[in-house]
Amino acid sequence: LVKAVDVTKNYGDFCALDKVSMEVVRGEVSCIIGPSGSGKSTFLRCINLLERMDGGAIWVNDELIGYRREGNNLHQISDAEISRQRRRIGMVFQRFNLFPHKTAIENIIEGPVHVLGQSVEQARERASVLLERVGLAEKANHYPSELSGGQQQRVAIARAMGMQPDLILFDEPTSALDPELVSEVLDVMKDLAASGMTMIVVTHELGFARNVANTVTFMEAGKVVETGLASEVLSTPKSARTAEFIKAVH
Ligand code: ATP
Ligand code: MG
Repeated sequence: LVKAVDVTKNYGDFCALDKVSMEVVRGEVSCIIGPSGSGKSTFLRCINLLERMDGGAIWVNDELIGYRREGNNLHQISDAEISRQRRRIGMVFQRFNLFPHKTAIENIIEGPVHVLGQSVEQARERASVLLERVGLAEKANHYPSELSGGQQQRVAIARAMGMQPDLILFDEPTSALDPELVSEVLDVMKDLAASGMTMIVVTHELGFARNVANTVTFMEAGKVVETGLASEVLSTPKSARTAEFIKAVH
């Protein structure tokens, strides 16, 4: 479903991504691990066009992201095309970026109504089902400030699901949470994975990676150091750096 080839991103003369390649099969969960500053967030931001890459290419659903090919030339696509591509890709951030002045259910129906053109009635119906799925049916009319961090993050996941995306990107979705709230969010993500959603998850939760992910990719200094089956990378890493990192996180 996702294919990234030699993705490169520079900030001035600093190379944040150096020829990063990755493939994610439809219905699979791919975890990205690595130390701070290794380019994990930058890579996710390139996939959903929050960031322009300087080299390489990304395909989602066999469609080139951000560019249009004409002969041997690549042209940047229009803003409208970018929006169209971006709404196929859900994103859940570290900080639950819900609209503070909207209730949980209003947060979820915003995109379906204004972007997908669903009726408010239809969107509300679907949003109720999603809230039920993330265990928050009774919190539909609560504002974000009235919800715990874990609950807010579950609303954020329901909101991403409401857009019926091809895949959902997660950037350290539990690292801003109090420890006792982490598992409720990971459980929702596990359910989502079991339902067949394609997910790319940047996380330090190696237990989740081990139990849920199909593949794990270890990045360091803008490069992919190692990638492979989750069980293999996490238990018998080939690279000494990967082994060191896994040991340190534990
Ligand atoms: P963390 O685990 O701390 O979230 P990360 O792996 O997500 O780290 P990135 O946020 O992708 O790392 O950043 C990769 C590198 O690019 C870092 O060294 C960062 O300082 C640099 N960087 C990121 N965004 C910018 C920017 N807008 N301008 C300049 N440098 C940037
Ligand atoms: Mg990051």
